Amino acid sequence: MISSRVSALSSSSTLKITALTKKLKKEGKDVVNFAAGEPDFDTPSFIKEKAKLAIDQGLTKYTPSVGTSEIREAICRKLKEENHIPCESSNIIVTAGAKYALFAAMTALLDRNEEALIPAPFWVSYPEMVKLCGAKVKIIKTKAKDNFKLSIDGLSRAISKKTKLLVLNYPSNPTGVTYNENELKAIYEAVKDKNIIVLSDEIYEILTYDGAKHISFASIGDAHKFTVTVNGFSKSFSMTGWRLGYLEGANNFIEAISKVIDHTTSCASSISQAAGLMAIQDKKWPQTMREEFEKRRNLLFAGLSALKKIKPIKPSGTFYMFCDIKKSGLSSVEFSSQLLDKHLVSTIPADSFGAEGYIRLSFATSAQDIEKGIDRIKVFTEEL
Ligand code: PMP
Ligand code: GLU
Repeated sequence: MISSRVSALSSSSTLKITALTKKLKKEGKDVVNFAAGEPDFDTPSFIKEKAKLAIDQGLTKYTPSVGTSEIREAICRKLKEENHIPCESSNIIVTAGAKYALFAAMTALLDRNEEALIPAPFWVSYPEMVKLCGAKVKIIKTKAKDNFKLSIDGLSRAISKKTKLLVLNYPSNPTGVTYNENELKAIYEAVKDKNIIVLSDEIYEILTYDGAKHISFASIGDAHKFTVTVNGFSKSFSMTGWRLGYLEGANNFIEAISKVIDHTTSCASSISQAAGLMAIQDKKWPQTMREEFEKRRNLLFAGLSALKKIKPIKPSGTFYMFCDIKKSGLSSVEFSSQLLDKHLVSTIPADSFGAEGYIRLSFATSAQDIEKGIDRIKVFTEEL
């Protein structure tokens, strides 16, 4: 009864464990939530007020499928000024979340049997989206000793005649690694002139630490001609439930992707778009959140570094900390589920990110909970 494409899919481990954690908390269990894939801050009130006003003003109807001209212009200004991407507002499509931007782009660009290159560890949804498009997933393994960065050698070896797409995600979910300008230039040199489209998911751009600066792939050389940049409001403005994302790309890509939107979601929520227009003009709030995350990263890293059988990798971006748990003798799933069952600490096992032997901890939780979580992990790992 079920299509073979969907039968071959796994469900999302991140969404499943996040839902389980929320359920346990609702039941009154004192769970430390290191599974969260969303900022724990409330959406700022100036954004919420704008949404209420939008409803009162009757902005409650379909918008153009690619988004309102106002928000597309504001996004275009941001991408030009902050990301140095040479674009026009006609190169922007506003979507129902960045996740849908990625899927709509893959649907429009990937043909059956063409290959999409995905560096591992990867965010759970990339391979499943490629499979849904009927295309082929080609994983490029990265090494812990390279900080999980894509090596040019590994990339060049993976490129074949069938390669259509390279998925880049930095700062990376789940490793927290990000790329500097020289590393991006090297990737650019390896893919240019090869008829490959780069799908660059930069949704965590605001969250970089130790002074690291986010550079958009599409700002390197003429990469904007073959790059679709994806971003959104979920992480930068703590708006995960509003379902608001966007993409930028060359005219021919936009034309194709907009057809997919026309026949699927019609448009992103009109109310969320009005609120997003307000959000994108504010530069201060995301920075305040970033500073708080940097403090929590330092707290979690210091605490876990003192423990045996778990080795944290210091992230240069995102709110995730990737941890090597191979010394525990447990698999990722065993480690994660025993930690939750015995000590009420929820984490995501990284087998679903293509990295057995690791788990992902999110520090999108209070400093108090981070300290409590470290204490519980200490007890758990000492018992092993
Ligand atoms: N890309 C990455 C790497 C993510 O972690 C997420 C988190 N959900 C998304 C895209 C999608 O974000 P959203 O659909 O909420 O905009
Ligand atoms: N991106 C987040 C995570 O990795 C949210 C859940 C999801 O969409 O996968 O946990």
